[in-house]
Amino acid sequence: MKKRLFALLSILIVLSMFMTGTVSATGEDKAAYGVIKPGQTTTLTQNIPINLVFIGYDAADINKTDLNSWLPSTYKPLVRYPQFYGQPGRDMGLQYNFSYKYVFKDALFTKSFFGYLKSIGHVQGRTLFQDMYNAQANNIRNVGKNVLYIDAPTVEGFLAQSLKMPAKSYTIVFINWYDRPDFQFHVYTKTDTVDPDTGYNFGFNRSSRKMIAWGGTTSRLWFYDLSAGPESWAGSYNVDDADLDGDAFPDYRMPPIWEYAAGGYRNPALLSSDLGMVTRFVGINLLFTTSPLYDPMASAPAYGGRKIIHVNMMEDDPTSSGMDWIKMNKVLAQYKNFQPYYNWVTKVVDGNPIDPNAQVAFRIFNGLSGASDCWNAYGTPFAELFCYFDANRATYIPAYYKRADYVAGFHAFNTTDANMGWNYGLLGFADDNWVDGTPSYVFEFDSPGYRAMGYGFTVTTIHEGGHHFGMSHPHDGYDYEYDWDYGPSGQLYFAWSGDESNTVMHYMDLSLGFSRFDKDNLYRWETAGYLNWSNQLLADLKAHPNYASVTSYVAQAQKNAGMAVTAFNNWNYNFSAAYAKNAYWRLALAAKILGVPTPDAAQPADLGDINPDVPHEGDPIRFPDN
Ligand SMILES: [Zn+2]
Repeated sequence: MKKRLFALLSILIVLSMFMTGTVSATGEDKAAYGVIKPGQTTTLTQNIPINLVFIGYDAADINKTDLNSWLPSTYKPLVRYPQFYGQPGRDMGLQYNFSYKYVFKDALFTKSFFGYLKSIGHVQGRTLFQDMYNAQANNIRNVGKNVLYIDAPTVEGFLAQSLKMPAKSYTIVFINWYDRPDFQFHVYTKTDTVDPDTGYNFGFNRSSRKMIAWGGTTSRLWFYDLSAGPESWAGSYNVDDADLDGDAFPDYRMPPIWEYAAGGYRNPALLSSDLGMVTRFVGINLLFTTSPLYDPMASAPAYGGRKIIHVNMMEDDPTSSGMDWIKMNKVLAQYKNFQPYYNWVTKVVDGNPIDPNAQVAFRIFNGLSGASDCWNAYGTPFAELFCYFDANRATYIPAYYKRADYVAGFHAFNTTDANMGWNYGLLGFADDNWVDGTPSYVFEFDSPGYRAMGYGFTVTTIHEGGHHFGMSHPHDGYDYEYDWDYGPSGQLYFAWSGDESNTVMHYMDLSLGFSRFDKDNLYRWETAGYLNWSNQLLADLKAHPNYASVTSYVAQAQKNAGMAVTAFNNWNYNFSAAYAKNAYWRLALAAKILGVPTPDAAQPADLGDINPDVPHEGDPIRFPDN
């Protein structure tokens, strides 16, 4: 008993030394030993099981060799935008190793699942795109007049609950109702969200929002149903035209399942390969394990700082006020939910009317003025908003009172249809600095014509903020093993399917917030990001002559970093990101005390030259008519 007590006491003593970071008599710094490795680069490795669940497909329908040939074994996310400048971007310190499991649901489950779909669906007429499919010259059958409209999030919830896949895994459910006696033509819908400014319900009103896939609401599951539709979004309604988007390249898309037939749109032998491509180029690369457009660490506040979204509203339409079409409380709610471990502030300031200098820049940007200005150095008027508002930052974006704050500058133009000029249809974009792919400002647009189509400023603000703080669309991304950055066109046109998931980062306007997938990804990036910043900073702290005075903070940092790694390994990513941030902030506090610079505040001394050859594009309205 005594011995055990002694042992317990020793553990407590060692633990307390660890906690307070006592420097021992020999001068050895115990606190420096832990998860944070001074000066090193840590790569967090996660084994990621992916379940491929088949409902309504027989095992004999699927050629596993063909499907497996598309499946990656690893993924290392990278920061995408710097790649366009030929730069590697920050080493994100993450590697995922995939394993795959096939599950074929039995006849009993299958029957009850399709019975469930019938029970929750509502029979209505064909969508516009089903009519268009029927009108194709080459379609091999017609969609009947009774179509079941099924609530997509309800199906996702039902599948998550009834399949009971392990929490630490991602799942794609491939559904095929076709060729069964109980088959019914059907589409999936999401109609529970209206635009917060216009009240417009895209999910209810638009044929283009009648879908074949959905997922990521709260589950780590995404379903994909080739027996649904045909639909507009990933182009399955069109079996006549090779090029759908007019870029002169044939667009590879997955047709409805009955077109995988002799005489159909697709050789039936390609079905398994197609499902493999969907798994890789949509499920894995765009939903489950994605790469950020911008480094999420580029918008990290310094120690004690807040994250601030400051909207500079500019009134360029005498007949309306932009302030009536933006709801900052909705923006704030989504960001508090997305990154709850930051202190968020949102603010909008109205410039009424727009000041003459900003107006000139706006006219140049839209091709309504040919005046020379800062854009000439970039060779494109698309650079005008960036270069004007960057040169005049202090005029439009206040400094706020805490230097540690990260202030994201958003410039909103409430304008007329005519004043959008050649950019009519552009909702917004999250620009970079035109030098190395660091996020700079958000620019966003609204007009009476946009509002008539359903668009205000609020959703655009959340979406573009998502980019600014790191997120890619669910329809573009990066393939690690092929080292491809891609969007939904040409051979990968079907990547549009990623939009059929519960995220404001899609183009469908069905969701105001961020998906389970977005959260998992962002939190993993930040966990590894903060741990690697901690490694870097701890090396600098140790080099300081007064390091011994801050070792208690180092010990607290090590403790938080240890909890971050434990949470990461348990897929509790929201906690892992929060702990990793706490770890870094303890070191940042020590750095503040010692006067050591921190990675978050570090600005490159010389950014280098502008590079006008890197592609810059914005977010347009897709399917404006339907
Ligand atoms: Zn976007």
